[in-house]
Amino acid sequence: MSAYIQNDLTKCVGCGLCQGSCASGAIALRDGKAVIDPDRCVLCRVCLDTCPVGALTLESDAQAERTADSRGIWVFAEMDNDGQPLPVGLELTAKAFALARKRESCPVTVLLFGPSATRQAQRFIHAGADRVIVSDAPVFREGLELPFADAVCACIRQDRPEAVLFGATPFGRSLAPRVAARLGCGLTADCTVLDIDPETGLLLQTRPAFGGNLMATITCPARRPQMATVRPGIFQTPESPLRETGEIEQLREIPAPGPVELLEKTLVEAGESIRDARVIVSAGRGIGAQKNMALVKKLAELLGASYGVSRPLVDMGWADYSHQIGQTGCSVAPDLLLCFGISGAIQHLAGIGGAKTIIAVNTDPDAPIFGAATYKIVGDAAAVLKALIEHLQQQ
Ligand SMILES: Cc1cc2nc3c(=O)[nH]c(=O)nc-3n(C[C@H](O)[C@H](O)[C@H](O)COP(=O)(O)OP(=O)(O)OC[C@H]3O[C@@H](n4cnc5c(N)ncnc54)[C@H](O)[C@@H]3O)c2cc1C
Repeated sequence: MSAYIQNDLTKCVGCGLCQGSCASGAIALRDGKAVIDPDRCVLCRVCLDTCPVGALTLESDAQAERTADSRGIWVFAEMDNDGQPLPVGLELTAKAFALARKRESCPVTVLLFGPSATRQAQRFIHAGADRVIVSDAPVFREGLELPFADAVCACIRQDRPEAVLFGATPFGRSLAPRVAARLGCGLTADCTVLDIDPETGLLLQTRPAFGGNLMATITCPARRPQMATVRPGIFQTPESPLRETGEIEQLREIPAPGPVELLEKTLVEAGESIRDARVIVSAGRGIGAQKNMALVKKLAELLGASYGVSRPLVDMGWADYSHQIGQTGCSVAPDLLLCFGISGAIQHLAGIGGAKTIIAVNTDPDAPIFGAATYKIVGDAAAVLKALIEHLQQQ
């Protein structure tokens, strides 16, 4: 497709005049809006003149060429106040490396701006980056979005990557839409699975949809770059270097400070997060009673682990929200995850994709959690918890 007609749904009034004018039957009305079938459209442009509200436009060849020209997968890597990169940036770099290997000549670039970015760049090369664009400039010190958006947009406009990934952190969730809006491209938020079509470079962005009741795979065929945010802990940080050498390039144009001035910063103690836990003992409604949370916590203590829960346990007040795992809770990526009485609903599974080994205990041999588990125990959650505690206490 070298050009296509686009309908601006915010303008379209669903009058149907374009449908009547289309000799090739390429336009249909769906839910009160005109929908154009690009396979039937012969680009005669009659509909453009017919539309009374100017909703239809011909997307230029230049835009399509931009799409064909775009190359490479980029990652925006965020740093914390101490100048340490957040793990999600390394996770996304390793994922970008895996995706890029499916494509021909598809380099991975990381954008790393903040104090000591230059010093941290090599970590991203080890995680799979061919190139890291860095800047330690003071303008990035305060973590205000606007200079970051300026720098990211300038780099993208210059090099035209085909995809850009952001961590779905509070900062990433604020920055990515700003960049998408400025560049006029789409953004898929909170992806849990990413893949790529090796031929077209289409990023297959999968995320929960319709209240989390199904997983939708979203593609962005018309605009570049394709942009997605991914929650921390969905992918894994590589254990050994994926690559030894790469390019470290200084950001060419340092953006001016934005119009926003930081007056005061308050640090809130967040406590220990289950996101970083290496071992997690996790409980669902199948533990039967609130008193059994004591067993969950005891086993966690004996294993030096953190504890997690499914959402109903938070809703019932058996655990604090900070321990909830899943789509609307935390994503976790422990080495070992023990699941007691958790059914394995899609919204829960969305948060445990990064776990390396999963041991699940459930009375129902067909429970969906067993589909994700490495080891399956069909049995009573409380009984297995007690047996494990007893065993460990005898050690
Ligand atoms: C928009 C949206 C977002 C959501 N976000 C999340 C989220 O972030 N995290 C989340 O967890 N959920 C989330 N949910 C809820 C999710 O759909 C499920 O309802 C929830 O995960 C179920 O929790 P559960 O497995 O503990 O309970 P249940 O589905 O009730 O499952 C209990 C399991 O325990 C087993 N069982 C029963 N008795 C025993 C026993 N004695 N011993 C062992 N096993 C036993 C049963 O066989 C069953 O498999 C969300 C839902 C929506 C709509």
